[in-house]
Amino acid sequence: MATRPSPTDSAPAAAPARSYRLFVDGRWSDAADGRTFQVLDPYTREPYAEVAAGGRQDAERAIAAAAAAFEEWAALAPAAKRKLFQRAADVVERRRTETAEALIAETGCSAGFAGHMQDAVQTNLHHAASWVYEPRGEVLGSDYPGTFSTAVRRPLGVVASITPWNGGSVLPWRSVISPLAAGNTVVVKPSEESPVTAGLLVAEALEEAGFPAGVVNVVPHAPGEAGPIADAFYESDDVRCINFIGSVATGRMLAERAGRTLKRSVMELGGFNPLLVLDDADVDYAAVVASLSAFFHQGQICLNVRKALVARAIYEPFVEKLVAHARTLGVGDPHDPATIVGPLINERALAVAQERIAEAVQRGARVLAGGGAEGLVMEPTVLVDVPDDATVAREETFAPLLVVRAVEDDEEALAIANEPLYGLTAAVVAGDRYRGFEVAQRLRAGSVHVNTSTLNDELHAPIGGVRDSGWGRSGPQSIDDFSDVVWLTVEGGRRPIW
Ligand code: ADP
Repeated sequence: MATRPSPTDSAPAAAPARSYRLFVDGRWSDAADGRTFQVLDPYTREPYAEVAAGGRQDAERAIAAAAAAFEEWAALAPAAKRKLFQRAADVVERRRTETAEALIAETGCSAGFAGHMQDAVQTNLHHAASWVYEPRGEVLGSDYPGTFSTAVRRPLGVVASITPWNGGSVLPWRSVISPLAAGNTVVVKPSEESPVTAGLLVAEALEEAGFPAGVVNVVPHAPGEAGPIADAFYESDDVRCINFIGSVATGRMLAERAGRTLKRSVMELGGFNPLLVLDDADVDYAAVVASLSAFFHQGQICLNVRKALVARAIYEPFVEKLVAHARTLGVGDPHDPATIVGPLINERALAVAQERIAEAVQRGARVLAGGGAEGLVMEPTVLVDVPDDATVAREETFAPLLVVRAVEDDEEALAIANEPLYGLTAAVVAGDRYRGFEVAQRLRAGSVHVNTSTLNDELHAPIGGVRDSGWGRSGPQSIDDFSDVVWLTVEGGRRPIW
């Protein structure tokens, strides 16, 4: 495979135009067995990049590098770490256009979303520059005079981060920033759908910022070949944490395995996010919130709204305005800056969405907007009269798809919203914001927002799930996820035990 001599080089003509190697111990290298695979642009379906197809041996090399780098990184002064995070933020800013283009081409996200993500990554890096100074423990009281008793936080060791394709650059960056800020070293296994933006570009930026060799390593792999890399993670004594962002099904399997191997796991999983529209809501505003919350990034963000529960009193005008708004959204080529809804990630995603719509329609649902697709671009789709037990009314579907259901009152809305075992995020649109707040307090979700979208994503805030949506948080709280608490005492004199 053609190698990539420097982060900014790319061959001009041949397809795919870019090739990437894996990043281990501060060096770019081919996979141990020399294999590569191609990543497709979801809109054009043309090859976007050729990428080293890592395997178990590569993962083992990456774990060894991360383990060797750990003590020094953990001990590095906060001031030095702060500078590295700040430099990384500068690199992200300088490479903004290049990265945005990569995000659009590799994941099909809109230009607007790509820009937003770049801002979010920079902000996250700036926050991390201060997290390295956050208090790392507390002084405890002691019943023994002269005893100095503390509870201190210590990094875990090597964190294995398994990243998804749907979070563009935000989630992959988050999957390394928090563990690093807590003093760990990291091996990233990016999604096979987007190895460049879900890992390799992070490595390039951190390398350019001057992070020491081995502190971050990235091992991409070909489709369907996550298993051997995961085996290496679980079978290594050095890997102390599996940091997973992805689907509930995969998360459940990985968490079970983490239980058997007694590794800590951080699970950021999917959900089935409700939007409650109360009877005193401003209908125009509620319709816009619903439309954008459901259709942004073609419904492929774990925070997208999946079901709108609308007070019957305003149901008809709400649906009318929602459908009208959905039809105004720019749909099509993500390379066009006017596009809001671009392509789904792959054929399988489109097939799943279409199957679920067909199932609902066959059972009496009506499609009020959208439903069709051209290539992998699916129109924003509004479904009503969907049976509550239809798959699309209960399970996350990564597509621009919104189920709208009328409810008699707030109690019914709460009962339906809280029924699935998921609990990632939820939102309430209410005229009286105090009433909205009261309803919000009764929603079982890791984030609840009154009078704005479920897509609210300030990275200093504790974003994460409850119940089947997993555990782990963004923001400074994430330091707790990636560190152990150790009780450390020092005696003033000699003290026998008994
Ligand atoms: P999706 O189907 O939307 O890609 P997944 O949860 O399967 O969602 O993917 C999220 C991440 O989990 C990706 O990096 C993917 O490669 C990884 N993954 C999938 N299956 C496994 C597995 N058996 N072991 C480890 N990682 C896996």
